[in-house]
Amino acid sequence: MNYFEPLSIVIDEQSVQQVQQLIENSNQILITTHLSPDGDALGASLGLYHFLKLKKKNVRLMVPNSFPYFLKWMAGTDEILIYEYNPKAAKIIFEHTDLIFSIDYNIPKRVGNMASLLENSDAKKVLVDHHLFPGNIYDVVISHPEISSTSELVFRLLYQAEKYNEIDKTIAECIYCGMMADTGGFTFNSNNPEIYLIISLLLRKGINKDRIFSLVYNNLTEDRFRLLGFTLSQRMKVFPELHTALIWLSLEDQKQFSYNKGDTEGFVNYPLSIKDIIFSAFIREDEDLVKMSFRSQGTFPTNEFAARFFHGGGHLNASGGEFYGTLEDAISFFENSIRLYTEELKNTIK
Ligand code: 5GP
Ligand code: MN
Repeated sequence: MNYFEPLSIVIDEQSVQQVQQLIENSNQILITTHLSPDGDALGASLGLYHFLKLKKKNVRLMVPNSFPYFLKWMAGTDEILIYEYNPKAAKIIFEHTDLIFSIDYNIPKRVGNMASLLENSDAKKVLVDHHLFPGNIYDVVISHPEISSTSELVFRLLYQAEKYNEIDKTIAECIYCGMMADTGGFTFNSNNPEIYLIISLLLRKGINKDRIFSLVYNNLTEDRFRLLGFTLSQRMKVFPELHTALIWLSLEDQKQFSYNKGDTEGFVNYPLSIKDIIFSAFIREDEDLVKMSFRSQGTFPTNEFAARFFHGGGHLNASGGEFYGTLEDAISFFENSIRLYTEELKNTIK
């Protein structure tokens, strides 16, 4: 049986060649991804990391800050360097790197305090990402906002470089996890038929997709599960005429349920389960800012909304931003903001 289904060429061939050349010419490679790494950020980074290790390259993976416990099953997570824990060591690593990959983010600002190390580095830089507006510090830019996950792009990069045979089960698991995470388990941004060709190619590497789903989504702690119930029953406001629902959590609420980083991951998706709700927002009070998360169904541009009102951005149906002020102010500012989108919200249907 021929395992090579015909995937179309997405990444331009010249970029694929250039990346291969850069890898070949490098002695020390550093893979980086964005603040509060999610499933796609880690899946894509680890997929590439394991591939380069198989190629006997000296490679490290550095993330700005820690990541949620339900991603720690992926092989290699215990080798990830966390910038925040040791910025001095991080600086030395940047100085001894000749090739840097920026995975799943578009501009240096998205790596927080790590940004200046990235910007000031003399190393060659490669971007592999699916957000709009790639930055201008890169030697090679592989930027495809039409592709639903960066993990899919990493697969395509390896596939187009004719390395499918070298992808092992570990690499395939990481890539699958990322593709799954950025599509909510293939429930949004997931209508491209080629996604399923790629899944088929990954399954042939021996991955257990059902187990991966459970490890990520059926792995809530009791506290986290109760926090979800509390949020939906006690901290939700629905605006039926605007097809919008809002959930929020104060620091006090989070403390009550022994909140850990990542515990509210995915919460913002739940209000979209309500009939006729096409826009969902989650407002979470943090130590020094208020974090905003947005999800939509259909054409409502959450990224435009996030950029206009909350210094943020992202994808059409999934984006985020920040608010500087009290939680109460963030909530009322949000309510005023959606009123400015009354026509768009009213006219979007599921
Ligand atoms: P989440 O709601 O899961 O935190 O973020 C969803 C998506 O929104 C992310 O993948 C990212 O593209 C984008 N995003 C979240 N927060 C921010 C932010 O503060 N600024 C920008 N530019 N994008 C964000
Ligand atoms: Mn992503």
